[in-house]
Amino acid sequence: MEAKASIYIPHAFRSFQGFSVIDIKESSASKTMEIILEKIPEKIHLCPCCGGRLGAQGDRYWVKARHLRCFGWTVTVGFWREKRRCEACRTTRSELIEWLCPTSPHMTLELAWWINRMSEVTSVMAVSRLEAVDKMTCYAVDHYILKRMLQGYEIPKVTRISVDEVYARSPKQQEKHETRDDLFMTVIVDQRTRKVIWVSQSRRKEALDMFFEILGPEACKQIEVVATDQHEGYATSVKEHCSNAIVVWDRFHLVQRFNEALNEERKDELERIDPEGAMGDLMNGKYRYIYLTKAENRSKTDQRHIDQVMKLNERMSKLELIKENFHRIFDTADTQMAQIRLGECYQWAMQIGANYIVDWIRSIMNEDRFWNFWTYRVTTGVSEGINRAIKGLKWQAYGYKNMTYFALKIMQKCGYLNHRFFFTKLAT
Ligand SMILES: [Zn+2]
Repeated sequence: MEAKASIYIPHAFRSFQGFSVIDIKESSASKTMEIILEKIPEKIHLCPCCGGRLGAQGDRYWVKARHLRCFGWTVTVGFWREKRRCEACRTTRSELIEWLCPTSPHMTLELAWWINRMSEVTSVMAVSRLEAVDKMTCYAVDHYILKRMLQGYEIPKVTRISVDEVYARSPKQQEKHETRDDLFMTVIVDQRTRKVIWVSQSRRKEALDMFFEILGPEACKQIEVVATDQHEGYATSVKEHCSNAIVVWDRFHLVQRFNEALNEERKDELERIDPEGAMGDLMNGKYRYIYLTKAENRSKTDQRHIDQVMKLNERMSKLELIKENFHRIFDTADTQMAQIRLGECYQWAMQIGANYIVDWIRSIMNEDRFWNFWTYRVTTGVSEGINRAIKGLKWQAYGYKNMTYFALKIMQKCGYLNHRFFFTKLAT
């Protein structure tokens, strides 16, 4: 397909299937280039809906589509697009142009891929400004390309995963037919690579079921450890699909739940004490190490400090001790030590009548899923980095209305749905 014009036409501009470049109009004043195309005689006209051959030509209209920039100049492609009769669809259709983006027909696919490529490293808003392409178009194009990539996506082989719920929408965005569960997404992370390998809508059991079904029964059998929060739905799903998997409650969530119980105790206590009194100073964070130190290792001064706090407010100091002791449970070498520590926490909480903590400890103390931590040592699932990236995404897009798109964006930024991994995988 050689160009008719005698001017030099770069190879990059000779890739418009079914057309040849006949002219390039440039304007150095506006830094724009328009590539003028003409259809080749042997061009086949196909229906964009059914894929069949189109019949007799009807109307035609001039299309000016944005293409990749060249030396900073804005490049557009101009050509006649024909309308032809489709017998199968029984209507007149605009012919299929393979190199145009189907969701945004005023943009080439090359540019669509490029917009998607750039949105991997920055916000879609920034891409929109940089390329001078309407913001809504950029979102649509990015979404379209991600969906295309998803079609070729394969979940990698995994043995240890973590399943987390991530808060995605505010209750204001909750639809009538939805429940609070729909405000969350289920994020599945490969513990080995720390990459997000799948994101499902909602935090219901079905969300995790879907992942296991896509993964397939053989790959499910390979899963050995699943770290989750205390959500029963997830546990049931794991039990149904992964016959060889052990469920471990995630340390991060346990500490969160514990802190919630502790906070209730603190609120109760603060209503009783005078914040301006001696207690305020003695409970200062700078003395925290004193509470951490084992009694036998304390200096005389430190011990006096503790005694004073104990005298002034036994309950607050005990709560602090319980808290520190609970955190240290996860650093213990084995289950036996952990049991001793948890037993201490429980006893102390009983002594001061910290009922929120007592109830909470009771709810976990007989659960294998809790003690499994000391056997399998799985650390937090959705890591700080992933959490930050998800928050960043929400902030950049001012909250996502389209949850499918949001899920794809998480897989793009924190997983493998991007050029860095996708094309290296396809190449090998
Ligand atoms: Zn058709």
